[in-house]
Amino acid sequence: MAGRMILYRGSLKSCNYHCSYCPFSKRRGTERELKQDRERWLSFAEDVVRKADRLGIRAVMAAPYGEALLHPWYWEGLARISACGKMDAVGAQTNLSFSAPEALQRFDACGGDRRKLRLWATFHPEMVTAEAFAGQCKRLLEEGILLCAGAVGVPEHIGILRELRKQLPEEIYMWINRMDGRKLPYTREEKNAFLEIDPYFLRELAPVLADADQCKDRLFVEGGRGLRTCNLSEVFDREPEAFGKMEHVPKQHCSRKRCSCYLAYGGRDDFMNRILFGEYPLFRIPRRPGAVFLDIEGTLLQKRGPGKETFLSEMVLAGLTALSLESIPLFFATTLPYPDARRRCREIWHLFSGGIFAGGAHLFFWKEHRELFSYLEEDCAAELARWKETLCFRMLTYRNRGRIYKITLCRTAHRPWRGEEVQRLAAAVPEISAGGVRCFAEGSCLQFVAAGADKAEGVRTFCRWMGISPEETAAAGDSAEDEEMLRLCGR
Ligand code: SF4
Repeated sequence: MAGRMILYRGSLKSCNYHCSYCPFSKRRGTERELKQDRERWLSFAEDVVRKADRLGIRAVMAAPYGEALLHPWYWEGLARISACGKMDAVGAQTNLSFSAPEALQRFDACGGDRRKLRLWATFHPEMVTAEAFAGQCKRLLEEGILLCAGAVGVPEHIGILRELRKQLPEEIYMWINRMDGRKLPYTREEKNAFLEIDPYFLRELAPVLADADQCKDRLFVEGGRGLRTCNLSEVFDREPEAFGKMEHVPKQHCSRKRCSCYLAYGGRDDFMNRILFGEYPLFRIPRRPGAVFLDIEGTLLQKRGPGKETFLSEMVLAGLTALSLESIPLFFATTLPYPDARRRCREIWHLFSGGIFAGGAHLFFWKEHRELFSYLEEDCAAELARWKETLCFRMLTYRNRGRIYKITLCRTAHRPWRGEEVQRLAAAVPEISAGGVRCFAEGSCLQFVAAGADKAEGVRTFCRWMGISPEETAAAGDSAEDEEMLRLCGR
């Protein structure tokens, strides 16, 4: 992520709505409770501004139990945080029942920066009509406020949720949350109905195993009750003013088995979160890149552990499905040659429009019937083959219509290539020493492709073909071969 993101939950437990399932329904806070909540939130906002630089805090979202945005002090605090030059984004979860003109007037009067404001709006069909809720969304959008809108996936509400989707402006993403505590799984029809409304809905159904390493850049601050890593993990510092006294970022703590709600899994540093929702995915506002380039080994296919088989997680599959339903072109970006990539990714092949294969030596945009190879000279293979006995390797050549576009020199895992061996080869093969060949190590293999053929160059070519700029695209990968591509594609 670009910086650390904090979720804040104060002591507020009151709401103006009385939804049947909610414990805070129509509960009015006492004067003392509200005063305390106000003091805590404003002192938290002050601490954020004071510490943003030192602690690398770049985004904050208030995720209250009740409805916070009815209270003017929340707008004041949001404004103060947004005015801090170090902050990229600030927002809150809300039922949208506040008066937009009054709230924004206060936000502006307190020096707020509307460009940084993000709202997560929840629709409560028992309390408000789809028309009124969509009207409030439109008003805010017209005022330049970014927001997402959505509701709990109650099957009985499918009709009204469809209606809401119809009434919302197209650019507002409508999410559906899995219904907690539901005993029966969704039927196929219900699942499809929700997926039609929310293309990202399968992510709500995919199991996500907890992995605290993905949560290094996040913190959950509870007004008066201490610190956690996320809303589900345990409190690790109960000191009431823990955040105010914090001098350095604490190590993440988590003993959960699963990250079972959006506020948990959506804030993880998984590549798919960033591809779908940008640097601060917890705001849940889709990024919708012009195209997505994805490495295969270690990215699309992840390892369960050292020496274990790679696998495609349900969460990654759900993310790919979402991108494909959003009509965002997907491309592989891999050092594997096309046939190997196809074999490894059989299950998801139909979702992709093409790929950068063989480390950039083969570009194939099958949806547009475009294909390009960067070839090596035949002599290069002949020269390399001479060193087989001396340097002990097996040589594979990859050809198209008889011409070579990639050479791989394989060794066993316990005998990786040493720097001086590579230099010896480079000096001995004229095409390499003249700079006509790019050589890179990958595990115990040495790969040779034409100079200038790499993933970043592949992205540039695809972008030219599609008439978009690389900044509009997104990419994910986990090795040195991906670095330039990641720098090139938009953050
Ligand atoms: S439960 Fe929370 S802290 Fe633990 S791994 Fe999941 S998101 Fe991270």
